[in-house]
Amino acid sequence: MNSPKSCVIVGAGLTGATAACELARQGFRVRVYERADVIGGHVRTEWLRGIPYEPHGAHIFHTDDTAVWNLVSKYTDFVPYQHRVTIRVRSHQLSWPLQRSELSRLEEWPQVERELSSLPPEPDTTNFATYCRSLMGQTLYDLCVRNYTMKQWGRAPEELSASVAVNRVELRDDDYRGLFRDRHQGWPERGYTDLVENLLDSAEIHLGSRSPATTWPRSRGPASPSWSRRHSTTSSAVNWARWNGAGSGSSASSFPASHSPRRRWW
Ligand SMILES: Cc1cc2nc3c(=O)[nH]c(=O)nc-3n(C[C@H](O)[C@H](O)[C@H](O)COP(=O)(O)OP(=O)(O)OC[C@H]3O[C@@H](n4cnc5c(N)ncnc54)[C@H](O)[C@@H]3O)c2cc1C
Repeated sequence: MNSPKSCVIVGAGLTGATAACELARQGFRVRVYERADVIGGHVRTEWLRGIPYEPHGAHIFHTDDTAVWNLVSKYTDFVPYQHRVTIRVRSHQLSWPLQRSELSRLEEWPQVERELSSLPPEPDTTNFATYCRSLMGQTLYDLCVRNYTMKQWGRAPEELSASVAVNRVELRDDDYRGLFRDRHQGWPERGYTDLVENLLDSAEIHLGSRSPATTWPRSRGPASPSWSRRHSTTSSAVNWARWNGAGSGSSASSFPASHSPRRRWW
């Protein structure tokens, strides 16, 4: 029988896991090298006393691409979730993105209204600040965007590219209050690590394994056991490798328990 085609993926975040899943589906033998001791990358979910949290910041899964949604839905159940954001301007609670219909509550409304009536036809893409000012006027920009942007990015908005603002800053007039407009939105019921783990189900994973390109194997055949051993940590508690179910137990039991809390939390 022919040896399966072989490939190496660096990183067990959502991108690496998705690539691993697709390549395994196409018949490749897939090895994933992850420098951290845990899978998941930025979307990793941890659990504390049964409560999930994402150490790198909360993520909402959203896509307009039905093929993407159908793919991930094979690997996790989603809790329906629509993210809504509000901001506080003095005593006023406003929707984010801003809605024109709410702006008349502001004491500055007469000035805001004048500025909105004289906006340029196209946004000024010189930098982040010019983009926002040309979208909503100076007053709204100063009230709602400027200080937050400086806090979040640690830089003056004039130093940021307009491209940073394009998908983040809007002035809406449709009273739609969800942050995202994508058709498909949700949160994986058992967290993102569970999703990534399921995507990686057919791959051989090497955790705690930084893999500079110079050490990748040249041959396309199956890895020699000594190569795998060289590139895996053997002593740190969270190192595991398996190939097509050849390891012990299911993918869930192959993970250290603390990284795979397969429990329902609502
Ligand atoms: C605070 C925050 C909130 C976000 N919110 C959302 C959201 O709500 N919705 C959304 O769609 N997106 C959101 N994003 C973006 C999202 O996190 C990323 O698009 C996504 O996680 C990227 O996945 P990735 O696999 O490409 O990269 P990563 O998650 O960074 O994974 C890369 C992996 O590769 C490993 N690696 C890197 N170099 C090596 C090496 N040399 N050898 C071995 N391993 C290596 C890393 O350790 C890591 O595990 C958010 C991002 C942040 C920071």
